[in-house]
Amino acid sequence: MNIHEYQAKALLREYGAPVSEGRAVLKAEDAKTAAGELDGPLWVVKAQIHAGGRGKGSFKEAEAGEKGGVRLAKSVEEAAEEAKKMLGKTLVTHQTGPAGKQVNRIYIEAGSDIDRELYLAFLVDRQSSRVSIVASTEGGMDIEEVAASTPEKILSFDIDPATGYMPYHGRRVAFSLGLTGGQVKQCVALLANLYRAFIEKDMEMLEINPLIVMPDGNLKLLDAKLGFDGNAVYRHPDVANLRDETEEDPKELAASKYDLNYIALDGEIGCMVNGAGLAMATMDIIKLYGAEPANFLDVGGGATKEKVTEAFKIITSDPNVKGILVNIFGGIMRCDVIAEGVVAAVKEVGLQVPLVVRLEGTNVEAGKEIINTSGLNVIAADNLSDGAEKIVKAVKG
Ligand code: GDP
Ligand code: MG
Repeated sequence: MNIHEYQAKALLREYGAPVSEGRAVLKAEDAKTAAGELDGPLWVVKAQIHAGGRGKGSFKEAEAGEKGGVRLAKSVEEAAEEAKKMLGKTLVTHQTGPAGKQVNRIYIEAGSDIDRELYLAFLVDRQSSRVSIVASTEGGMDIEEVAASTPEKILSFDIDPATGYMPYHGRRVAFSLGLTGGQVKQCVALLANLYRAFIEKDMEMLEINPLIVMPDGNLKLLDAKLGFDGNAVYRHPDVANLRDETEEDPKELAASKYDLNYIALDGEIGCMVNGAGLAMATMDIIKLYGAEPANFLDVGGGATKEKVTEAFKIITSDPNVKGILVNIFGGIMRCDVIAEGVVAAVKEVGLQVPLVVRLEGTNVEAGKEIINTSGLNVIAADNLSDGAEKIVKAVKG
């Protein structure tokens, strides 16, 4: 789960991290008051969307102006003007995809003077199964770009969970960033605080890009991107409250309400499968037969008819879906429950695309009977490759 920059900064401020004063604005008419509450002489007006690269992004609407989603202003009036121009407009960055994201919130911040822009992140490294620190002198830039062209400029190492964060970790980062004197101490303390926030709030990612050195030598977080482990959000009601559902894929949002493991993808074959392993195998085999999956969906072990119905509705609501493959191996999940769910869903939402159903396992005969007597136009399949081949053929001809 992701949150907005202004929310991330408020949270990290509680952990003692240095951030600027700022005000979040939802309505254009509030922008001037908000900017007026901050000290000049520089204001930064920032579009709040769950995507990075805002500074270098561009708006779809001409009225928003040529500048990107992060704008500097020299007066309260100018700040309010820029906020007005961006609110409600669609910002496209390299992270949003071509569709872009609508800007519904603006963050106005007291501007900072910058000497150097650095990069700092904590993330969960799946290879080592540890929290990893990533730091670079090339802040403000796209870190993927730095990693590709000048990987030697990125320092990355793991933190042993048995010791947790140690001051020498911070000194190692500070020296690699070229910090000196009191900055080293500041860096060591800052990383301790960020690590504590990361662990206590069950974060998946904490990215500060840029972490700046100001002309007075002090450090400040100029941008902050936090991602939380979705499976642990229930432990943090304060974090759950920060959720902005308008930023999420509506299909994934609906799926999360029904506790379905669903991820939207770009392909044309909608998949309904039980078990994450089988779901991945199904996606692989669809690719093998020359098509692309439109989603990952694991309906889980104890799915009810209602849950299956909802899952089917989510799949059919995706306009990219040109065919559906239901692939169920009934272990705990019973084939008749799946069949009932599919039939109920089709009755409710109709079926505009070919549907291939492969059922195997517990109550398979009862399941097939329900499908066969439903009057639905279903293509039956006997096994996984047969199912994949049939749905790809039905879609691609
Ligand atoms: P992003 O493009 O989505 O990563 O947004 P950032 O918050 O990182 O802002 C992009 C860039 O705008 C930064 O790398 C800075 O160069 C610039 N910027 C942001 N805040 C300030 C500020 O307070 N003062 C100045 N001078 N530049 C800023
Ligand atoms: Mg940034």
